[in-house]
Amino acid sequence: MSTCVFCKTKQSKYSGRSFHKFPVKDVLRLQQWLKEMKRKDWKPNRNSTLCSAHFANDCFDRTGFLITLKKNSVPTIFDNPKSECSSCHRLREYGHGCSFFKFPLDEPDIMKQWIANINIGPWSPSSDSFLCSDHFEPSSFQKKSQRKLSVHEDTLM
Ligand SMILES: [Zn+2]
Ligand SMILES: [Zn+2]
Repeated sequence: MSTCVFCKTKQSKYSGRSFHKFPVKDVLRLQQWLKEMKRKDWKPNRNSTLCSAHFANDCFDRTGFLITLKKNSVPTIFDNPKSECSSCHRLREYGHGCSFFKFPLDEPDIMKQWIANINIGPWSPSSDSFLCSDHFEPSSFQKKSQRKLSVHEDTLM
């Protein structure tokens, strides 16, 4: 069973996506793929796949029974990655009852507290960094202006 290395979608009858292996033997093309993914330091193995969501429509050959990638296709659609919790790496998905919060980049004092509490060492969140609601006390959600972070012991990773 394949899982997309980028968006973590699993191959299933219901995903409505096709899964395509990395061109591991075609070094030049592979470099193009990784460049588009912005993962130059990462190396796929023979079983790594990307799902069809990352390829433009005209990359596919739909004339056969199986949908295949046309030769020299390069995935280009990575501009909408799923958000990931910086602490527990849970992915933001619809319907799992978990909210995601951006770091308060404009409030250094509060942010310091967040970072100290999630205990991941010297690290600076970006505007794309999130924490999931597992790391907040329920009372944090009532007053947005005073959102305080409190990590539950059992969610520390
Ligand atoms: Zn994908
Ligand atoms: Zn989390």
